[in-house]
Amino acid sequence: MSQTAAPETLSFQAEVGRLLDIVAHSLYSDRRVFLRELISNGSDACDRRRYEALTRPELAPPDNEYRIELILDTQARTLTVGDNGIGMNRADLVENLGTIARSGTAAFVKSLTGDAKKDLPLIGQFGVGFYSAFMVADRVTVETRKAGDEQAWRWSSDGKGEFTLELAERKAPGTSVILHMREDAGEFLDPENLRAVVRQYSDHVAIPIRLGGEKGETLNRASALWMRPRNEVTAEQHKEFYHHVAHAFDEPWLTLHWRAEGKIEYTGLLYVPASRTLDLFHPDRKHGVKLYVRRVFITDGEKDLLPGYLRFLRGVIDSEDLPLNISREMLQNNPVLALIRNGVVSRLLGELEKKAKDSAEDYTKFWESFGAVLKEGLYEDPPNRDKLFGLARFASTQGAGLHSLADYVGRMKEGQEAIYYIAGDEQAALATSPHLEGYRKRGVEVLLLNDPVDEFWTAQVGVYRGKKFKSVTRGGADLSKIPLPEGAEKKATEAEADMAPLLALLRLTLQDAVKDVRVSQRLTDSPVCLVADENDLDIHLERMLRLHKQIEKESKRILEINPEHALIRSLVAALGKGTVSEPLNDAAFLLLDQARLLEGEPIPDPAAFARRMTAVLGRSFGA
Ligand code: ADP
Ligand code: MG
Repeated sequence: MSQTAAPETLSFQAEVGRLLDIVAHSLYSDRRVFLRELISNGSDACDRRRYEALTRPELAPPDNEYRIELILDTQARTLTVGDNGIGMNRADLVENLGTIARSGTAAFVKSLTGDAKKDLPLIGQFGVGFYSAFMVADRVTVETRKAGDEQAWRWSSDGKGEFTLELAERKAPGTSVILHMREDAGEFLDPENLRAVVRQYSDHVAIPIRLGGEKGETLNRASALWMRPRNEVTAEQHKEFYHHVAHAFDEPWLTLHWRAEGKIEYTGLLYVPASRTLDLFHPDRKHGVKLYVRRVFITDGEKDLLPGYLRFLRGVIDSEDLPLNISREMLQNNPVLALIRNGVVSRLLGELEKKAKDSAEDYTKFWESFGAVLKEGLYEDPPNRDKLFGLARFASTQGAGLHSLADYVGRMKEGQEAIYYIAGDEQAALATSPHLEGYRKRGVEVLLLNDPVDEFWTAQVGVYRGKKFKSVTRGGADLSKIPLPEGAEKKATEAEADMAPLLALLRLTLQDAVKDVRVSQRLTDSPVCLVADENDLDIHLERMLRLHKQIEKESKRILEINPEHALIRSLVAALGKGTVSEPLNDAAFLLLDQARLLEGEPIPDPAAFARRMTAVLGRSFGA
């Protein structure tokens, strides 16, 4: 390829095309955000070059200074946002500016409808990073050279489906984003306006942002926000910094800014987002906290810095103790990092405890967003388990809202030894499960657990303040010690004796399909239900594991029958009269299938189900 080679034309990835279409054709309520996005990228690029230069000093700029420059050309109607950061090579340009590289973002864009009216509020919340340049520019040109490379590249696009790439020349590494301003975006060619926008949105940026080039006036304070005294940082500045570090567009729900001194020294500036982040359940469980060493960016998402169950955190930890030339590999198992991690965990949990106590309603919002993640700590972080149990909130049969375990225990009935729960996918379905009937009747509260993680901590941890967690869908959940309310008393032994012939018949008929048939204490309104044997996996957990191909076997369940139910009573009566076996046989299988349906399990033989159903209906109408 020679310097005069014709530009190559490439197409944007389909998702980028859709995003750009929406960006260009809809007026944002606040177009000024394009500038903070480009400045934010410049600042990230400088951080990355500075990190690379720690181990390869030849990559540092000659004066070792990093900066962002804004250059206006009112004649040509261009605004250039330049930086002397890491820069991009050809592959970087195609990957970073031609596709949506971040997994969460790609999924987000796929979910857009293409209807600007519907999508805009979503995008406004999400942000579009680099592409926001097309809100104000009808052509964007990027000239860039990667630190360590000789060759520079020019990327250019009008944001309509294609971009061009060609060789370019550039004296030093870094990137210039040249915006050819749209007719209606003249306000951004006014220096006074730029000054105001930078002060409002980008004052937190730790490197100087200069107007008019290298010697120009510096528009920001250019000091790391987290190093400023706590009381000097305004809520507005926190919000802007949070947008920058978190690539987020909501407001932080909680801001933690502190300096740890003593055995180790570090500064923490951490944010808990107000809403769930898109990558929260991504398998890599990466957190969003950047590690700095004495103001130099080292890495983000370092696994040893934070436990996985705090991956919703965003922000910065800046250590005074780690060596500046530490490589990412050397961070693993580093004792300083372990100390910081302990400090951060206890700081955050302490702060959450305070929130839970002082403003329960606000705390509920946090719990609804991130409780499902925090609960992973119950089995991953045994030393903090008690604290995490204290922070946990659950829906329960007690009524609307979320309840703490302490409250649950306080409401336990006389004779109740366990904390009862039912786990499943949907809270509404759980709340109406037949398994709950006997508990309701006795006034025993049951926790309704509908996060996948609930199956794991209940199985692995299992005890809170000496009280076992017991699933109401298991055989071992014993209600007999908990008295029924006055008037509801029953002669249970008599009922059991009546039931013996029916139990025997059902056991015989269903012997290949169930483990056992028993008289139930947990049912009041439904005739039957399925439960797991005490030592078998919980029904819902087993289904989940099968779905994820973790196990193949299917355990047989126990069918419980309700001795007080009219249908069961009439079966007992029919049996006493010596009714022919076929209708009873049909009834046995239909009852089992019904219990399966209520459990959300498929019916193994739908044809047989339909045949029996037809027979029973036919008989009842005298067919
Ligand atoms: P984000 O900053 O959230 O990753 P952007 O859309 O703002 O998303 O940028 C996309 C990617 O393009 C960045 O992750 C980075 O790799 C690259 N990039 C953008 N601007 C620059 C720049 N000035 N210097 C180097 N790389 C850049
Ligand atoms: Mg960005």
